[in-house]
Amino acid sequence: MDFKLSDEQKLIKANMRKFAKKYVDPIAAEIDESGRYPEEVIKLLGEKGYMGMPFPEEYGGAGVDYLTYAIAVEELSRSCAATGFTMSVHTGLACGPIALFGNDEQKKKYLTPMAKGEHIGAFALTEPGAGTDVGSATTRAVLDGEEYVLNGSKTFTSNGPVADTFVTFAWTDPEDKRKGMSAFIVEKGTPGLTIGEHIMKMGIRASQTSAVFFHDCRIPKENLIGNPGDGLKIAMSCLDHGRIGIAAQAVGIAQAALDESIAYSKERIQFGKPISKNQAIQWMLADMETDINAGRFMYYYAAYLKDQGQSFGKAASMAKLFCSEMCFKHASKAVQIFGGYGYCKGQKVERLLRDAKITEIYEGTSEAQRMNIASNLLR
Ligand SMILES: Cc1cc2nc3c(=O)[nH]c(=O)nc-3n(C[C@H](O)[C@H](O)[C@H](O)COP(=O)(O)OP(=O)(O)OC[C@H]3O[C@@H](n4cnc5c(N)ncnc54)[C@H](O)[C@@H]3O)c2cc1C
Repeated sequence: MDFKLSDEQKLIKANMRKFAKKYVDPIAAEIDESGRYPEEVIKLLGEKGYMGMPFPEEYGGAGVDYLTYAIAVEELSRSCAATGFTMSVHTGLACGPIALFGNDEQKKKYLTPMAKGEHIGAFALTEPGAGTDVGSATTRAVLDGEEYVLNGSKTFTSNGPVADTFVTFAWTDPEDKRKGMSAFIVEKGTPGLTIGEHIMKMGIRASQTSAVFFHDCRIPKENLIGNPGDGLKIAMSCLDHGRIGIAAQAVGIAQAALDESIAYSKERIQFGKPISKNQAIQWMLADMETDINAGRFMYYYAAYLKDQGQSFGKAASMAKLFCSEMCFKHASKAVQIFGGYGYCKGQKVERLLRDAKITEIYEGTSEAQRMNIASNLLR
């Protein structure tokens, strides 16, 4: 067993750290406060090859393995979780279905500009009445000649307000709850496609989130991904991939909480000495470091299995579950170390705690991860 990163992985980690320090740190507080989409940074990420890292170069990607990509998500999220998530939802959930299940035409037409960062992607699965229970979705797609006609609505679509390309899911055979859902590509500007307002949230406020509505939205039948009925399989497979990205994002947030806590505890003087001299504070820092390392190895392992072509769904769920709960716990500890100042706007740890919470919810809640893990055990 080899615990070393390759030279390429170390280089990409260092490069992303440099990038995030230079371009993301200076705007992270501002975009959190305003909810502004950091378009200039996303454009730069695309130009530098970060918006399609794990995809083949022939389709605009950087051709690196999934572990290297996840490490980049960690480093970006360490500076700004919203920017890290914009990159990861675009890569794992929007490019992913086309890269893994699309045909050559779809990869040329849609994946290539997405992987280059020229087009932004969104993944619209969740509906107002169908979150954890994906099967209770009601969006329909009916084949009419050479076109599918989509009707229904999605919610919580990340990147929705800024996306050029939507991957979405609709019933082609609503009677068949196992194999009746299909996956489609929908282009921005298609008549019948409407995008809702940016939904303001507790955290990751610069990540753009909206509802998506389909009203007699006609798309060419060539925009079906895979075969009719493959939708659920495609969604679940891509969520397995996406969860590695969320685990990495959570580790990045937790690492930032530790970075802030170390620096502050050395500076803050109470009772005539830095608070870091107290064992109570040292133990919090030691626990953070221990759990962050454990979480990092969990997502590295899930990515390693994926890169080896082995089954990785359970490992991805375990990494996502552990890293997200660990992240929230330690972001809260960081606020504790900062005392009253940590509870105030303007401190990074206050933002980190709000950002941390979402990692326990999206791409499957902690309860959904536990269901996945248990169903793997009880097979
Ligand atoms: C900021 C943000 C971004 C998102 N981005 C996207 C996106 O890009 N694309 C997309 O498709 N979706 C996205 N989502 C949706 C997200 O994946 C869902 O919110 C999530 O899956 C939970 O669904 P829900 O919110 O409907 O909660 P519900 O499913 O209603 O769950 C509510 C609570 O009940 C629990 N629960 C539900 N069923 C069970 C059960 N059987 N056993 C035990 N507990 C259960 C849940 O764990 C949760 O605690 C996003 C959500 C947010 C908030």
